[in-house]
Order: sequence, then structure tokens, then C-alpha cells
Amino acid sequence: MASEVLTHNIVARYSEEITKGTIESVHFGEQARLKRSLKVAAVCLLVAGVCLCIPGAHFVLVPLTLLVSPFVIYKTHSQATKILKAEIACPKCHKPLSVLSSQEKYPLFENCGACHREIRIDRAA
Ligand SMILES: [Zn+2]
Repeated sequence: MASEVLTHNIVARYSEEITKGTIESVHFGEQARLKRSLKVAAVCLLVAGVCLCIPGAHFVLVPLTLLVSPFVIYKTHSQATKILKAEIACPKCHKPLSVLSSQEKYPLFENCGACHREIRIDRAA
């Protein structure tokens, strides 16, 4: 399965106050996840190749890049969803709430930029 963009209804909560909104996210299929992780692997090799050209620093940068690469590749492969945008207001101050999380894993916890309260976001039933 390739990737598909889905829109879900979400609810933001702060104690007893609730607002409703929508979230748009990409859901990666197995092929898309493999393709993304191969791209990241290619970028890691490219970075290691560029670091090889830096005299002196290449003794540290190349092994460091090659050590970190498997973790970055694994993290990219395990990312099944990516949030594109969310439209929801803060339940306390009613200003637009920015959702900075990258993965759609509920519950999401976001800090409101206006009132600095921690807001819990769940998928609406
Ligand atoms: Zn707020």
C-alpha cells in the first residue's frame, strides 16, 4: 500500500473544557515506509561522503555519521503516520492551537502558544 492522506476529527481537552477540530495526516504503507527509509539511508551515505572530504574532522564525522545512520533509518521506517496540519482551538483561551507532534499517536499533548497550558488531544469517537 502506498501512502494516503486522511482527515480525522479530534478533541482538545483542558480539565472540563473541550474544543473540536480536524487533523490531516499521511499514513504510510509498507512500501512507502521502505522507500522513505531508503531515501534517508542514501542521504546518510551522502553526508558521510561529504564528511570524508573534510581534512582532520573526517576521523570523527564519518564514524559518527555511520553510527547514527541505522537509528535514523530505523526511526524513519517505524514512522507510520505524519501530521500535515491540524485545525483546532485551545479549549481554555480559544486561540488557534498549533500541533507540533510529527506522529499521529493518541493522546497528543501540546502546549498552547498563547496561554502555555498543556492541552490533551484525542481522536474523536
Ligand atoms: Zn490557550
